[in-house]
Amino acid sequence: MNAECIFCRIIAGEIPATQLYSDDDVVGIVDVSPQAPTHLLVLSRKHFSSMTQVAQSDERLAGHMIAVATRLAREAGVQEHRLVVNTGAKGGQTVDHVHVHVLGGRQMTWPPG
Ligand code: 5GP
Ligand code: ZN
Repeated sequence: MNAECIFCRIIAGEIPATQLYSDDDVVGIVDVSPQAPTHLLVLSRKHFSSMTQVAQSDERLAGHMIAVATRLAREAGVQEHRLVVNTGAKGGQTVDHVHVHVLGGRQMTWPPG
């Protein structure tokens, strides 16, 4: 747990969030500032700064995060959806705790912003 990290604090129960899923490795929550009718986040329970760090140290967890994100999309009724992993400042990452976005419920556009 990183006391400075907002997602570590959510996982610790110090900051409220709408939790949809939990297992030993990940937690699924609703994004506080939704960018689509469905906007969920899959967080690693363990603090990793980005997917780069997860992919280098625990490939199984990287795959599990994608699998859970896909499952939550299905459960939310958005079989057609977008998974996003922003990585680093130029990648648009604003919270330095690895997470996978699940976006759905509207037509997505390309290229992304
Ligand atoms: P990033 O920009 O790092 O890819 O995504 C961070 C996401 O976390 C954003 O979509 C933002 O709305 C969400 N977020 C930031 N703070 C909170 C919070 O306190 N609670 C929840 N549920 N989501 C948050
Ligand atoms: Zn953290």
